[in-house]
Amino acid sequence: MIRRAVYPGSFNPLHNGHLDIMRRASRVFDEVIIAVYETPSKPQLFTTQERMSLIQQAITHEKLINVKVASFSGLAVNYVKSVGAFVMLRGLRVFSDFEFEFRMALANHRLAPDIEVISFIASEETIHISSSTVREIASLGGDVSSMVPEHVRLALEQRYAELQSEQ
Ligand code: ADP
Repeated sequence: MIRRAVYPGSFNPLHNGHLDIMRRASRVFDEVIIAVYETPSKPQLFTTQERMSLIQQAITHEKLINVKVASFSGLAVNYVKSVGAFVMLRGLRVFSDFEFEFRMALANHRLAPDIEVISFIASEETIHISSSTVREIASLGGDVSSMVPEHVRLALEQRYAELQSEQ
């Protein structure tokens, strides 16, 4: 049986903390599907397609051959089931993540008792990174090169330049 895991998230944009979880998960599972959550309610800096493309470029660059990217809407557990997986991956950063992730894991377990939520503890080097921090720093012209892969840094630079020229 293939040990397939789904790693859902907004990935707006992908950063080194996400990449660290992807790398580590690719060693534990036969196949890892990065599932980009389509969030129409929340204005996104990057479209679903753009977020997927940034992830795909990183996967190709890192040669993570058993990692794939997809998008989903609706309940994550339903998506996990639809691809025949039994595991949902999450990353755990600081203690403040814990309460949220703990509550969500319990809710997901109630919705789908046969799906296991497995959390990777963030690495020391990337524990401080979040997509919102990356967006905030990049929007103010700060240097995010230690937090995201180079192609994501370039995409951020370009997007904020576009947004500024629209104003
Ligand atoms: P963010 O919180 O950065 O906006 P997402 O919603 O895309 O990210 O998060 C998807 C998953 O990745 C969540 O389980 C989140 O806890 C995890 N994650 C986010 N940042 C990190 C990090 N720096 N280290 C480990 N896991 C992380």
